[in-house]
Amino acid sequence: MDMANLTRQLAGCACGKEHTASFRTVAVASGVTGQTGSLLSEALFPKRLLVVYDKNTLAASPGLIDSLSEAGFSILHTDFEDLQIADEFGANRVLEDVKRHGAEGILSVGTGSLNDICRYAAAKSNLPFAILATAPSMDGFASSMAPITINGFKRTFPAKTPEVILADTAVLAKSPCELKAAGLGDLLGKYTAHADWVIASLLTGEYYCETVAGLTRDAVDRAVALASRGDTESEDYAAGLMEALILSGLAMQLCGCTRPASGAEHHLAHFWEMKFQLAGRKQLFHGKKVGIATGMLADVYNDLADVPDVTEVQRELDENELSAVFGSLWPEARKESFPNPLEEIPFGRVEEKWPEIKAALAKVPSGKTVRKLLTEAGGEATCAQAGIGVDLARQGIRYGRYARFRITMMRVLDRLTFIPDYEKYVAEQGK
Ligand SMILES: [Zn+2]
Ligand SMILES: [Zn+2]
Repeated sequence: MDMANLTRQLAGCACGKEHTASFRTVAVASGVTGQTGSLLSEALFPKRLLVVYDKNTLAASPGLIDSLSEAGFSILHTDFEDLQIADEFGANRVLEDVKRHGAEGILSVGTGSLNDICRYAAAKSNLPFAILATAPSMDGFASSMAPITINGFKRTFPAKTPEVILADTAVLAKSPCELKAAGLGDLLGKYTAHADWVIASLLTGEYYCETVAGLTRDAVDRAVALASRGDTESEDYAAGLMEALILSGLAMQLCGCTRPASGAEHHLAHFWEMKFQLAGRKQLFHGKKVGIATGMLADVYNDLADVPDVTEVQRELDENELSAVFGSLWPEARKESFPNPLEEIPFGRVEEKWPEIKAALAKVPSGKTVRKLLTEAGGEATCAQAGIGVDLARQGIRYGRYARFRITMMRVLDRLTFIPDYEKYVAEQGK
């Protein structure tokens, strides 16, 4: 990934924002593992390095330790057995090792939870932070926030954006099919997210950057084209996925908001996550939920794109109805819907902007296409396949929109007399 070229493309952007990224190095290529030492040296990484991994991610990275030693790094280790969740114990272990060894930099070997505890620890100890990614499973690599579970409750903390992101496509290509399919699911979500971003901007004048949106969309299109070739074991595909995932995370940093990467599909995924948590069920991969939610909302958005005209109506949110759905999470979830974000939209604006809204919705690929891509990538494409259950599918499509204080097309439905045939979309998820 050519950061210098990217910086050039974004210089003097028409959106008026000065887009800045904190990366020094991003390298996605075959054989990068064996060059980790020299790449970190070039990025002027300090030599007392805490390398954080678990047995799976270390085994997936042969040659890493030798490469670091050869480049003169003193290697300090935090080795986990099999890190499944990012919780306070994992994060504190990294922090204690930083202190005990006097580490001057942190290298996280892995993805997801391993990255999150290191990102958090790097912020707490104010140390330079690098990631050697082992699977293209989600777009949080460039994130400046870390979700950490404390006393069983997931909270999001400010965290450190990595200065260096490395990914060996030979390693990524061999990562479990389920993780790659989750990465694809997270990417497909950008189609609905971008429709929501454009629509919010049309309705309230919310900040929007076509350059960043376009760069992200192009990267997603490239990854999707590779996925359509059916060659999901190839390094080309792994590279395409990884680059789009990094770029999508970076896009949030460049714009200072989550809009380029997250819309109603993420709110729906978040809703299911909360419901799983309440029921004490094992969580599904983030990207898996996002992919399934994207297919479901793509069905809705495509149907809406065919609605010739709409009529607006004022509706109050029914707090009794919502608190019954969200249960014990309602006191927390309530903040996302009261006040109602739709209050920002002047009455009549949706009718006025409908032709442009329809055009944005029509750019979303069909739900059928989304599900086909997920299936061909070896992933699960419907609620039934992923064990989400018909009740959660039904609740999700109706109430998932209330999980975040954001204007999305799903939220805007509350302003229309038109009521979608939700049962049709739920039935599609039963297959
Ligand atoms: Zn811009
Ligand atoms: Zn995501």
